[in-house]
Amino acid sequence: MQHDSQSGTSPTDLKEYRDSLACLDTRSFLHSILDTGSPFGELSVVSSFGADSGVLLHLIAGIVPDISIIFIDTGFHFGETLVYRDQLVAHLGLSRLHVVQVDPLSQKRSDARGTLHLHDPNQCCELRKVQVLNRALRAFSGWISGQKRFQTGERAGVDRLEWDATRKKWKFNPLADWSQEDLRGYQAKHQIPSHPLVSKGYASVGCAPCTTPVSLGEDTRAGRWRGSTKLECGLHARPDLIAVSAA
Ligand code: SF4
Repeated sequence: MQHDSQSGTSPTDLKEYRDSLACLDTRSFLHSILDTGSPFGELSVVSSFGADSGVLLHLIAGIVPDISIIFIDTGFHFGETLVYRDQLVAHLGLSRLHVVQVDPLSQKRSDARGTLHLHDPNQCCELRKVQVLNRALRAFSGWISGQKRFQTGERAGVDRLEWDATRKKWKFNPLADWSQEDLRGYQAKHQIPSHPLVSKGYASVGCAPCTTPVSLGEDTRAGRWRGSTKLECGLHARPDLIAVSAA
């Protein structure tokens, strides 16, 4: 069945897939959603090329190296992230990297000085990430994200298969049930290059003005928007998601 990305098939129409995917290991799960004939249509991977991104990208590169990888360039990334992105893409043989960013007119209208992140980070993320991703996903019927449950309390309810009701897309979190130790073990076993900031204490890497290293015992995302109540950029807004499968 070909998924209609415009109408956004109701997840209840695919209960049979929910049940069949629930018991699969990560690699089998990825094959099921990415192999030719998958009921989920054309998917893309959304990657920040952050601290853990290499694991998911390595798994996916072994199945569909020509899948579309979307990287949202906010204009505020660490230089190390851009270097790491290109290094990882070459290392894994990924052939379709899409770098997307806010259109100049919107930026001029909403943040001509480039200082919005200083006084309204929610609006800055909305402008530079959420709206950009919404446009980039129009051509796809679903997207794959690297969220893990252990990262924060906010993400504790992340499921491997979700329905992104706002965008009317399938959303997949293949690593939802992975632990930090699982990630480290996989990365070491497959000799996946590390983000250069990880060794400097950045357990999660976002935009430079909004990211600090973390201390021992802190949540991996504690360094994001430190000192504010903001926990997420808005790409993964939980109220819009209806979980439809247990991982
Ligand atoms: S993380 Fe900071 S700089 Fe990046 S888009 Fe959000 S508010 Fe702006």
